[in-house]
Amino acid sequence: MNPARWLERAALLWPQRPALFRGAEQVADYAGFEARAGSLAAGLKAAGIAPGDRVALFLANRTDYLVAMQAIWRIGAVAVPINAKLHEKEAAFILDHSGTRLAFTDAAHAGGLAALAPATRIVDMDGPGFDALLSGPPPPLHPTKQDDLVWLFYTSGTTGRPKGAMLTPANLQAMAMSYFADVDAAEAADAKVYAAPISHGAGLYQFIYLIVGARHVVPASGAFDSDEILDLAETLDRLCFFAAPTMIRRLIGAARARGSRGDGIRTIVYGGGPMYLADIRDAMDQFGTRFVQIYGQGETPMTITALHRQAHAEALVADQGDPIQAHRLASVGVAQAACEVAVLGEDDQPLPHGEIGEVAVRGPSVMKGYWNDPAATEAAIRGGWLHTGDMGALDDAGFLTLHDRSKDVIISGGTNIYPREVEEALLDHPAVAEVSVIGRPDPEWGEIVVACLVREPGATVDEVTLDAHCTARIARFKRPKAYVWLPDLPKNAYGKVLKTELRRLHASDRPA
Ligand code: AMP
Repeated sequence: MNPARWLERAALLWPQRPALFRGAEQVADYAGFEARAGSLAAGLKAAGIAPGDRVALFLANRTDYLVAMQAIWRIGAVAVPINAKLHEKEAAFILDHSGTRLAFTDAAHAGGLAALAPATRIVDMDGPGFDALLSGPPPPLHPTKQDDLVWLFYTSGTTGRPKGAMLTPANLQAMAMSYFADVDAAEAADAKVYAAPISHGAGLYQFIYLIVGARHVVPASGAFDSDEILDLAETLDRLCFFAAPTMIRRLIGAARARGSRGDGIRTIVYGGGPMYLADIRDAMDQFGTRFVQIYGQGETPMTITALHRQAHAEALVADQGDPIQAHRLASVGVAQAACEVAVLGEDDQPLPHGEIGEVAVRGPSVMKGYWNDPAATEAAIRGGWLHTGDMGALDDAGFLTLHDRSKDVIISGGTNIYPREVEEALLDHPAVAEVSVIGRPDPEWGEIVVACLVREPGATVDEVTLDAHCTARIARFKRPKAYVWLPDLPKNAYGKVLKTELRRLHASDRPA
């Protein structure tokens, strides 16, 4: 099935429904959205783009980003969305690696990209070249098949070069159907806000809101701005959006400052990185039960596990000391309906519940493989399971708790220490805004635990206090032996903390 069919269907069923918004301002109804995508599809075709050709998008969020994706799929081409925060050289690597023929970009990136990617035709959406492509009557939907390539999802590459996960209509359908079952019953009255990059989770979730014919709102700033989101909530109501945990922390801070309790926000789906117990409790304290967690990766988009609204609600009403509820709230939930999840040992066999191993996924959401990389594909998909590279443990009820990636585990005195546990303990202290825990090579212990911290503005705390704080919560051998205070933590373009960078800068006892 062609993924553009959902827009076509919505335009036929509900032509006059509001579809695209720039901030609070409507720019198209469903008929208009479909017509614009259709005429851009005609322009792409006239420009020589054929089924299977790769067409990239390297620009900040805007409504025409969504229009362009629909146009690409309509003619059977493959969308290659690239995070706009990447460096132009990184984007050029992706264009070259994917053999992209045409790339949509904006005024901010067009010049730099044109110089770096001579083999790709660059179309600046802010320039006349884009308007010239909006031509002609819409071509019919290309008869895309279930296992055709439609989205080349370049992974964030926190370790090495990004790889292109090949996603098919079957993958996107599995993701969308699982969303209705496990995440949220999306409805026509919802306003889906593209608060995070469309190239990533926010864009993947467009399908859900096309299926129900809801409003698609791209913030006027094209980025994540907490106050803008809170303003949109007041004006548009029923906001639903995907956000990374760091965005939620910022949003909650802004909401607290202006006395917002989250009115006008229906659902916030969070994921993409660890959400700490202290942070989700704090978020629910301000916003109540508007949260759902998902755990996924580009290789099985947004679809591994989900921690449902109900699980958040139960944890909220339970005593904070209730160990089962705390364990569940710190977990990433249970396998989504579309897939099976297992925790595998080194022999690739499922481990008993409670034991930590590599998280593996099987089902229709799993990618076809990596673009032009059979070796990486074979390493990732073995024995029918996608090996996520994430470490975790399942409990008897099927809740998955993620531990750290194997390369992040600290081995001190021969014992494994999972940074996440130490991070959870430190974040429980009011003076700690952000933390990331790494191992530092040590002649006696092999490695010692080092905490890299960001202080809450205006707060003071000394290491003796933090040491006592940790000893009260975790085993003594896990507590940090050194503290590094930083103005902020290094993060990649997706907001994920770069432990590799922290290790490079702070894994020696000499000041960086
Ligand atoms: P990406 O492919 O860029 O979306 O990155 C996927 C990776 O982000 C996963 O393999 C996990 O390491 C991490 N991740 C995604 N969702 C979560 C979550 N809910 N909690 C913790 N880590 C997550």
